[in-house]
Amino acid sequence: MSGTSIPIIPVKAGPAIEGDGMGCHAGGETLLAAARSAGKSEVLAQYAKDYPKRENAGPHDQPQSMCPAFGSLRVGLRMRRTATILSGSACCVYGLTFTSHFYGARRSVGYVPFNSESLVTGKLFEDIREAVHAQADPAKLDAIVIINLCVPTASGVPLQILPKSINGVRIIGIDVPGFGVPTHAEAKDVLTGAMLRYARDEILAGPVAAPRQGRQALPTLTLLGEMFPADPMGIAQMIAPMGIAVGTVAPTREWRELYAALDGAAVAAIHPFYTASIREFEAAGRPIVGSAPVGVDGTHDWLGAVGQAMGISHALVDTARNQSLGAIRGVLSQQKIHGRITLSGYEGSELLVGRLLVECGADLRYVGSACPATPWNAHDAEWLKSKGVQVQFRASLENDLDALHEYQPQLAIGTTPVVQAAKEASVPSLYFTNLISARPLMGVAGAGSLIQVVNAAIGNQARFNTMKAFFGGVGQGDEAGVWEEVPRPFPEFRKDNRRQNEKQAKKRKAEEMS
Ligand code: SF4
Repeated sequence: MSGTSIPIIPVKAGPAIEGDGMGCHAGGETLLAAARSAGKSEVLAQYAKDYPKRENAGPHDQPQSMCPAFGSLRVGLRMRRTATILSGSACCVYGLTFTSHFYGARRSVGYVPFNSESLVTGKLFEDIREAVHAQADPAKLDAIVIINLCVPTASGVPLQILPKSINGVRIIGIDVPGFGVPTHAEAKDVLTGAMLRYARDEILAGPVAAPRQGRQALPTLTLLGEMFPADPMGIAQMIAPMGIAVGTVAPTREWRELYAALDGAAVAAIHPFYTASIREFEAAGRPIVGSAPVGVDGTHDWLGAVGQAMGISHALVDTARNQSLGAIRGVLSQQKIHGRITLSGYEGSELLVGRLLVECGADLRYVGSACPATPWNAHDAEWLKSKGVQVQFRASLENDLDALHEYQPQLAIGTTPVVQAAKEASVPSLYFTNLISARPLMGVAGAGSLIQVVNAAIGNQARFNTMKAFFGGVGQGDEAGVWEEVPRPFPEFRKDNRRQNEKQAKKRKAEEMS
């Protein structure tokens, strides 16, 4: 351990958050109140501003998606020479580690465990401090990321007082509680924004390392958002006639790329939810461009916006448009999507996919995104609405399922439970995350690839009909499972149970009131 000595502040946790048993279902309001009283008001107020929840949405003010911390964890795990350590309940860490490896992390996830005592006495913070000191080897690492999950955040574990760097290794401590950051998409922004802020301070303090491949000779456009690897290359081709190049894609894969990202002449917010990151780019004086080059209209408008942000002449913008739009029109004129579609997801790129679907000929009725409305997706939302598409930001699962029932699509693109509901109703469906997000969307490549996968899925209707006819109602509802005999319903038991449940609920209510 290094000789750096820092104050250790024991944190008294409220009784509601003692122990390791609190989870997503522990009641966001309780945890939020605990976190505020434990000194996290400022960070939570910033999150509330950056990632606004949906107002008046009742129990569905927060979308149902995976643990938000996964977004930050993934950004950390994808960076070279970066260690990522979680501080949280063992069950949360188990789930997050599992998901990381499912998505090919190929890297260890660090963990500082705790129990009631270490949480309440402040020993957890001491353990975290020891862990970062033990890990801070400049020969191996540029940065260590520590992520406070729900319980340590609610307990006020003060990561902000960790040293900013140990032996030259940068220490980035962030709070990513499920009750403060609504989606894993926005949690990517929490870490990316924190890293950009750190890198910007370093730039202000003096010279920093150049990118591995050196600085580009042309003015560069930084791309914001995790996208299919071919997309930045496609975008580079589209903007080349304007005399500009694609710089870095943020979240970056290496610390020094953060400097290159901030060095871009402008930033394209391809994914619109990176609010904290955009704050850093704006503080560095970089203009931001929303939307993305999807389809003919999208590409036309986006190239114009990039040209304007980077001071490119109309003539060069037109050259770039001529080059790209002709090719996209060519693809769209040869193939079309025929079918009614609903679309929902939590990646933040739903509106872009929606635009492309409409341009490919789809009868798109609904786009639900778990992410919020921002200035960077406003143009896309307006465009979709002008085509008669219902757009729902901060969409809940209930919104998505309502759309499925209302619009009776021939294809439902959505999250796992939406796809499951569609399959049950014999409607062909595609997982947004695995099958749509994981393919090119921009320019010519995007149009061609989306048409193929969507048409193939819609063409599966006959197979669904055959399955439905073969299996009928077997295995549905109460009769699901393997039975030796045909299950016999007992409606009287059900009635009895319902009556007892209602009685107990009334009793609980009366006890609460008294
Ligand atoms: S850290 Fe994630 S999994 Fe754990 S309680 Fe919070 S939201 Fe749920």
